[in-house]
Amino acid sequence: MKWIYRRGVADFAAMSDLSQEFRRELATVAKIAVPEIVTEQRSADGTRKWMLRMDEVQGIETVYIPEPDRGTLCISSQVGCAMDCSFCATAQQGFNRNLSVAEIVGQVWLAHRELEACAPAGVAAAAAPRIITNIVLMGMGEPLANYRNVVPAMRVFMDDLGYDLSRRRVTLSTSGLVPQIYKLAEECNVALAVSLHAPNDALRDELVPINRKHPIEELLAACWHYLDKQNGRSITFEYVMLDGINDEPEHAQALARLLRGRPAKLNLIPFNIFPGTRYRRSPAAAIVRFRDILNENGVIATIRRTRGDDIDAACGQLAGKVTDRTLVRLGTRASSAAPRSSLEAG
Ligand code: SAH
Repeated sequence: MKWIYRRGVADFAAMSDLSQEFRRELATVAKIAVPEIVTEQRSADGTRKWMLRMDEVQGIETVYIPEPDRGTLCISSQVGCAMDCSFCATAQQGFNRNLSVAEIVGQVWLAHRELEACAPAGVAAAAAPRIITNIVLMGMGEPLANYRNVVPAMRVFMDDLGYDLSRRRVTLSTSGLVPQIYKLAEECNVALAVSLHAPNDALRDELVPINRKHPIEELLAACWHYLDKQNGRSITFEYVMLDGINDEPEHAQALARLLRGRPAKLNLIPFNIFPGTRYRRSPAAAIVRFRDILNENGVIATIRRTRGDDIDAACGQLAGKVTDRTLVRLGTRASSAAPRSSLEAG
């Protein structure tokens, strides 16, 4: 594990402190497969985005966001997404498939190599500087819809022979799959972020359709249960600021009534536009007013700084290359899916 994760070695033959015989044996029973980078883009603000080839036609995106006190890697869990949130670019692409454990962990492995975060030859792995200090499952896909592969991947991120991150530095963000939140509470201890986006069911039904199945009250009960079980400090609720939709003072007041006195933090995300969306970003003054109402009413709220939007790497802008299998099968989007089905053409 140290050779692979700390030193970034992808060839068993190079693992020089293992016996020759063991190295040969490993090569016959296992393969270290690394995703291929199709394109890399760099933002003026230092954010980097990679498109990774998943197979002949599918591509996913991974984003690195450097900040003075930390480096966050935002990784994907699925090719596309089936949750169909109305304000998200990934949703527009539709859903193709779940990523495997190797494809999820492989994003971190590649970013480590590209960022030159691997321990150089002659330096003890433990002494190498940390360039990726946080991993967030906030890229393409709904991580809890790929529970089976996401949980083992997160264990590698936290394993001291893997990426050795503390449980507070690995964050899973979900649109609200309630049964899987209960399951996660029993099995894996990471920081939880929840995409709330509306203070009432009528509005959330529209923005985050999974709400029709698991309404806000059920979702919040699962969140508090998760914190109890995991002895966690608080849940971060994400709230995208959509002009004229969910950004009125009454929405802020209703949110405060919902979350006051609870171990909750609100993270307000200025909406990031993408081609074809009908939404607009709330004006800066409306976002500040919204935050102030929450803070005055006893709820901690912060505004997420937009990063990497010049390369379409900001929240909700990751589109990758997805051929929607469900829609192609139904024949509803076959014609529009065809032209974007080749990575080379992209
Ligand atoms: N499916 C998971 C993981 C995605 S996290 C989830 O929903 O939580 C990405 C975050 O960005 C989510 O909170 C999502 O709701 C938000 N988001 C999606 N589209 C956005 C957009 N266009 N502008 C800003 N934030 C957006």
